Amino acid sequence: MKTHIKKGDLVMVMTGEDGPHGPKAGRRGRVTQIIAEKGRVVVEGVNMVIKHRRGGRRSNPQQMQTGRLEMAGPIGISNVMLVCPRCDRPTRIAVRIGEGQARSRACKRCGEVVDEA
Ligand SMILES: [Zn+2]
Repeated sequence: MKTHIKKGDLVMVMTGEDGPHGPKAGRRGRVTQIIAEKGRVVVEGVNMVIKHRRGGRRSNPQQMQTGRLEMAGPIGISNVMLVCPRCDRPTRIAVRIGEGQARSRACKRCGEVVDEA
């Protein structure tokens, strides 16, 4: 899976998937995790899933708390696009090879260099 998205990027969700609790198109967030082998990313605040947590046995009162733990679930990497800091819009990424083979990512709309890749 070819992608230029990196951890920490601000991205926008372009398509929804995964039913009623899936990500909503247009949501933005930072990439907190990349699962490259599955072609998926975790974006903070997007595709929130609730994990039900069961407490431990009576012998361990410290773990008796039950609760709902909300966490972001992974979504398809092809469903997100990088948000350009200058355009403030989702954009495709152009990869430039500079001097000394240094690669940088740039916005295809405005040419703004997003960072050094
Ligand atoms: Zn731009």
